[in-house]
Amino acid sequence: MPGYELWGEEEKKHLNDIIESGILMRYNFESVRNNHWKAREFEQAIQKRMHVKHVQLTSSGTTALLTALNSAGVGAGDEVILPTFTFVASFEAVLSAGAIPILVDIDETLTMDPKAVEKAISPRTKVIMPVHMCGAMADVSALKELAKKYNLLLIEDACQSFGGTYRGKYLGTIGDLGCFSFDFVKTVTCGEGGAVLTNKEEYYVNADQYTDHGHDHLGNNRGAENHPYLGLNYRISELHAAVGLAQFEKLDKILSIQRKNKKVLKDALKEVDGVNFRILPDEAGDNASFLSIFLPNKDLAKEVSLELSSKGIGNAYWYDNNWHYIRKWDHLKLLRTLAPLYKEHKELLPNYANADFSQSDVIISKTVTIPISLLWTDEELAKKSEIIKSIVSNVLANK
Ligand SMILES: *Cc1c(COP(=O)(O)O)cnc(C)c1O
Repeated sequence: MPGYELWGEEEKKHLNDIIESGILMRYNFESVRNNHWKAREFEQAIQKRMHVKHVQLTSSGTTALLTALNSAGVGAGDEVILPTFTFVASFEAVLSAGAIPILVDIDETLTMDPKAVEKAISPRTKVIMPVHMCGAMADVSALKELAKKYNLLLIEDACQSFGGTYRGKYLGTIGDLGCFSFDFVKTVTCGEGGAVLTNKEEYYVNADQYTDHGHDHLGNNRGAENHPYLGLNYRISELHAAVGLAQFEKLDKILSIQRKNKKVLKDALKEVDGVNFRILPDEAGDNASFLSIFLPNKDLAKEVSLELSSKGIGNAYWYDNNWHYIRKWDHLKLLRTLAPLYKEHKELLPNYANADFSQSDVIISKTVTIPISLLWTDEELAKKSEIIKSIVSNVLANK
């Protein structure tokens, strides 16, 4: 998963350009910045590689989501459909925009079930927001079709799937808008950072202005800029962008190591009867930062997860995880906020404390996910896959 494993001279070199010039701000200061524009360069590099018209860097993946929603005019009382399996930031962003998160079940892709999405569409629905979890894609074709049929926006939360593709197109570039995170544990990191991608000029101009207090960025005199509308400060700094630029240059290396390592683990587990794998709508486009396996049931999955941990094999059992699955999102279920909610929230939010997500429960409770490291040597990997295979075989043999 994480680009931070490949920290090195490249990051230091790009950082040093900024440290030497002392210009940490992405805008202005032309005469003293020694022509270093790290944020701009990083945006252009993503734009070129991912064949997308516009890229706007942000301060985080969370603010990228908020920027995408605001840029497309999504706000108070609008419903945004998103999956029960994601990171809390997805619904935090929707709530902060004033909109209503409508959570729906996942299927064995570990992403939103298009059938559940269609059922959840109401006259208030404005957005379908798939989350490409753990490095791989939702069923984008089916979701795109639904968006078209019901005239909805498709905003991809691709925060966990940088570099992944679907039928040759980069995740994050397929919907009306797409969002990435470059936080410390993502495929490519800036330390903290994010990006909004779109092919629509209007959304891009909005994103460019919104992330910088609504400044119109016209002309060279910052103080004389106009404000077409209210914005906020979701800017990325040049220091963060410098790190991202160095990491981005390693993307091919990151993807190829992950894909090679994941294949070894997956091939070993394919030999074990009773193990199944997450469904990938386009396996070739998996960024391969994680391997997710299905055990026959919850008890066996839990046992596998515990055994793996006891042998020092990093893994996630999402059903018990506070960050990623609805079962443990008490703060959302009880609507614990610091400040009062919008009136629309009180009126329109579903009661998540009593909601039935049994379809998701069945799938998540049988899932165990193993993060793929970039640092495993071939010997370590061979040893690890033997250990993992034997743990899983033993647990299944004793069932
Ligand atoms: C990490 C993540 C985010 C938020 O990104 P930050 O940069 O940490 O704010 C949003 N959605 C998903 C699915 C994520 O994994």
